[in-house]
Parts: sequence; structure tokens; C-alpha cells
Amino acid sequence: SAKRHGRNVSQRFRPALDVQNTPHMALVYGLRDALANGDQLELHYQTQHRIMDGAVVGMEALLRWRHPEHGMVSPADFIPLAERHGLMGQLGNWVIDESLSQMSRWRELGLPQLPVWINISAIQMFQGELETALSAGLARHGIEPSQLGLELTESVLLDERAGDIVPRLEALRAKGHRIAIDDFGMGYSSLSYLKNLPLDKLKLDRAFIRSLPDDPADAAIVSAVLAMARGLGLDVVAEGVETHGQLDFLQQAGCRLVQGYLYARPGPAEVIEAQWQALKSDVSGLILRAEPTA
Ligand code: C2E
Ligand code: MG
Ligand code: MG
Ligand code: MG
Repeated sequence: SAKRHGRNVSQRFRPALDVQNTPHMALVYGLRDALANGDQLELHYQTQHRIMDGAVVGMEALLRWRHPEHGMVSPADFIPLAERHGLMGQLGNWVIDESLSQMSRWRELGLPQLPVWINISAIQMFQGELETALSAGLARHGIEPSQLGLELTESVLLDERAGDIVPRLEALRAKGHRIAIDDFGMGYSSLSYLKNLPLDKLKLDRAFIRSLPDDPADAAIVSAVLAMARGLGLDVVAEGVETHGQLDFLQQAGCRLVQGYLYARPGPAEVIEAQWQALKSDVSGLILRAEPTA
């Protein structure tokens, strides 16, 4: 088990049991087990919506770890651990394969083929196996690159360890992938790279959305980013939209796309399927619509 494994390793590598680090290391060993067995890991999916009519335009795949003792562990907690302990390459490859495999299952079920966006860790860029893992997965599951979008944070895009990122992004886009900057506004905040990097989309971080419409600074920043993105020909997705007040502000400021609890929480594939089966009987064609629920 993970526990026994953890104790063995701490005995081998540590002079004494470091109580403070025990939970941390136990999680790392647990994660290694989860990767070996596969059944504790899941992807949940959160739909992205066009404000104008609520149509679903895509989905973000979000990694979930159902720990046998601790229950759901947040990716915000275990992804940094995976990165620090050499497990992120494997975890990232699992996400690529699982998302593509899910897309092929949805295709077999006759569900609409909507683009899925996955999050890419810095480690996947540094190690340079991202391109190989993507090509292999796409070929294995028969999915077009245009159906798999890649979300990278500003810090990933600007980290020099990833090498010259421009030709890599250009090559990924030439294959058909679309590229988004995730958590836009929270990173190094240099605007010059927006001019140089080949990008399709900005995901405006939830931190700027949270206090809309009342906070004048956030309102100014969001309006300015939307205007700038329009000028640069980039789509903007507002992240973490929870209220009608936020939605109304965003729409008036010219934002077209949103993701957030107001429309849908992330859910397992079966929940998404059930929503779609229900919606399919309601609407004609492939555009799925959902009204904000909150
Ligand atoms: P992210 O990529 O910015 O994902 C959006 C996060 O916001 C998700 O948290 C989502 O559940 C949450 N969210 C969406 N709408 C709302 C809302 O209306 N209100 C609030 N309060 N939260 C909302 P989650 O799933 O906990 O993921 C956290 C972060 O973990 C992600 O942020 C991403 O950076 C990372 N992550 C998740 N899955 C993966 C993955 O497969 N690979 C990598 N490298 N990172 C991942
Ligand atoms: Mg993301
Ligand atoms: Mg984000
Ligand atoms: Mg985030």
C-alpha cells in the first residue's frame, strides 16, 4: 500500500521520520500508486458557454484524484506535488490519453463533437515530450488536433526552460491545436508577448471576475483586456462566472464566452452525457444550450 511504501522509503532516505513531511510524502506515494493503478484518477468536464445564447462551445477537462482515505484531493494541491516529485510527465500523459479516449467514447455514443481543452503543466513543456504524447494519443483515438485545445499559464509560456516557445506553439497550431493562455493577468504581465506568441484565446482569471461589477479597478481591467483582445483578434473566456451581475457586466463589456458555476460546475463524463442526452431532445442541430442556473 501507499503507506507501507512511504514508510520504507522514508526509512531508507531520511535519518528519522519527519513528521511534518509525512502527510506530504504519503500523498506523493499515493499519487504514484494512483498513476500505476489508474482507477483513482478521473477527468471532470466543465462546459464553456457563448453568452449570447448560452450555447456550449467547448469544455475544459479538469483532473480529479479520488484518494482512498482523504477523498477528493484538489488539483491545486496535488499538481504542485507531482511537479516537484517527478510525476507530472506521467500525469500529463494520462490526462492527454484519457481526454482523447473520452472524446472517442462520446463520438461512439453519437454525442456532439465539441472541442475539449486540457491544462498543460510547465514540466510537460520542459521535458519536451508533449508533442509526442499528443500525436500518439490523437492517432490512437482518431481525434483531430483541432478538437483538443491546450491551456498554458503565462508562467509556463514565459519560462525559459521550455526553450523557444514560439516555434513550438507555431508547430502545435500548424497541426490544428488551439492555444489558450490560462489565468490571464496573474502571471508575469508583460504585454509584449501577446504580440509575439501565436495564441487563440485568453482565459481571464477568476480573480478579476470575482468582484464585478462593483469593483471599479477590476471593471477597468476587464474592459481593457477585452478591448485589447478584440484588437489582437483573440477570443476571451471569462473564468469563474458565478453571478448574473458578473455576466451582465461581461456581456456589456463585449465578452462573448464564459465558464463558471453560473452555467455549470465541472462534472464527471456521465453527468455531461446525461445533460447532453436531455438537451439533444430539446434542440435542433448540434448547438447545445443551457440557461444560467444561479
Ligand atoms: P484552471 O485551469 O484555471 O481551472 C479552472 C478552475 O476554476 C477549476 O478548479 C474549476 O473547477 C474552477 N472553477 C470553474 N468555475 C468556477 C466558478 O464559477 N467559481 C469557482 N470558485 N471556481 C470555478 P480545479 O478543477 O480545482 O482546478 C484548479 C487548477 O488545477 C486548474 O485551474 C489548473 O491550473 C490545475 N489543473 C486541473 N486539472 C489539470 C490538469 O489536468 N493538468 C494540469 N497541469 N493542471 C490541471
Ligand atoms: Mg485551465
Ligand atoms: Mg484558469
Ligand atoms: Mg487556475
